[in-house]
Amino acid sequence: MTGTRTQMMISCSVLLLLCGISSASVVNYFTDNGFGNPVATLQHPCAEHYKGVTYIAYQGPHEDPYVCAYDHAAKTWAGPVKAGENTMGKSPDAVDPKDVDNHGRPALIVDGKGYIHLIFGGHGGKPALGINRLGTPGNGRQTHVVSKNPGDISAWELLDNVDPFGTYSQFVKMDDGDIYLFYRHGSHRSDWVYQKSTDDCRTFSPPVSVLKHKAQENDRNVHDAWYAWFDRGKGDTITASYVYHPCRVMGHTKERYNGYYMKMNCADDSWENAGGKSLTLPVTKEYADENTLVLNSGTERSNHGTCHVDPEGNPHLFFRMAKGQVRYSRWLGSAWQAPVVVTADSKNQDGDMIVESSQVVKMLLSSAGEVCWWNTSDGGLTWAKGACLISSPDAGYVPSALVRNGGPAGWIVVSEHKGAQNHLYRNLFLLGDGGPVGRAEEGASNLGDRLKNLEANPPAPKPDKAEKKKRNKSADSGDGDE
Ligand code: ZN
Repeated sequence: MTGTRTQMMISCSVLLLLCGISSASVVNYFTDNGFGNPVATLQHPCAEHYKGVTYIAYQGPHEDPYVCAYDHAAKTWAGPVKAGENTMGKSPDAVDPKDVDNHGRPALIVDGKGYIHLIFGGHGGKPALGINRLGTPGNGRQTHVVSKNPGDISAWELLDNVDPFGTYSQFVKMDDGDIYLFYRHGSHRSDWVYQKSTDDCRTFSPPVSVLKHKAQENDRNVHDAWYAWFDRGKGDTITASYVYHPCRVMGHTKERYNGYYMKMNCADDSWENAGGKSLTLPVTKEYADENTLVLNSGTERSNHGTCHVDPEGNPHLFFRMAKGQVRYSRWLGSAWQAPVVVTADSKNQDGDMIVESSQVVKMLLSSAGEVCWWNTSDGGLTWAKGACLISSPDAGYVPSALVRNGGPAGWIVVSEHKGAQNHLYRNLFLLGDGGPVGRAEEGASNLGDRLKNLEANPPAPKPDKAEKKKRNKSADSGDGDE
């Protein structure tokens, strides 16, 4: 009798254990409430590995900034926590991708004391915010929040200390703790600027113009404009890589051309080109063509990529060309290497890269439903496909820039985009060498009743096509995702 009872208890325990395992099933995404285009390479970094924890910011419901954190030793996830409010968010959530602004995606940095900072919510600033002396008005409000406590994502507070006329916010942190915030100071026809903080983002210097916008002399309808990507260079320097956008007030297009590079010396905030020639800022189109051109694309369109330096400080960069094809180049000491197509496999390639030496570069590229390494060991002349970190037959992946101080345990964040879905929520993944960092399904499921509510209370029908066309005639009514 006792023996049978014991057996029964053991059976029950095994059953419970099995039940326990199945109820705590693990999924390969860390949250399902990314919204629209939740991460991108332009607003960066959106994640940082700091003292054993990877902090990740992304655009969630209502385009608001959300934060998750992964403790690598404990293998535990925290969040998502809503860290602030994006004034461009809509309610109920949009279901048409064109109705999501996406410019207010958060950038994240951890300061010298371990506080986590986000900048988000900007698309150049609404006209009601006042006069924008460095550009044209847009939408939203560039907003800064900080965690109430170091290393703790549970509570956030607003810091009203950055210019509201920002978009494409990018943080660059130096070894001495100085933090630079770069962004475009308004809608398309605006300067790119930086604000510098020497006290862990508690105060910032006024904006300094780096790239100048202006109407062309021969055709006042066309304004010189830019898309730029800033990051750490060697030592106390910052790199800038950028593309040119001829912004037409009437008859606007998304045309972008060429590729450019220059470097800032943070000791005295001076700038120089790849060859070491001192530059006078802000840089105009004519001046950039003369002094900082990497790639003359002619009539072929280009788009920004990322830029990193090798141990000698020489820049390696890529631009995304026709149909999103990535082309790589590096500074050889006296000239730029002729751009090389990394992979002809597919279009819409995007990602970031690790420069190990002048010869060895690893590019982490998303294309055609997979995110894979592409490696060169001959300074970028030839590239070979390496391991894939994630793939899907029916989804595409949009990558962030590299996790700041990331590594094999978590290199990059990607959102998953499936064609066949009637809403804009996305699963988000942290990808390391072992693929996605998994999470118990319970913690990764954060949509609650949102899909049900959206079905019951869908967004109002959109204005008819003619009215929409009228609205979109000028550049400032919308500039797409980028
Ligand atoms: Zn434009």
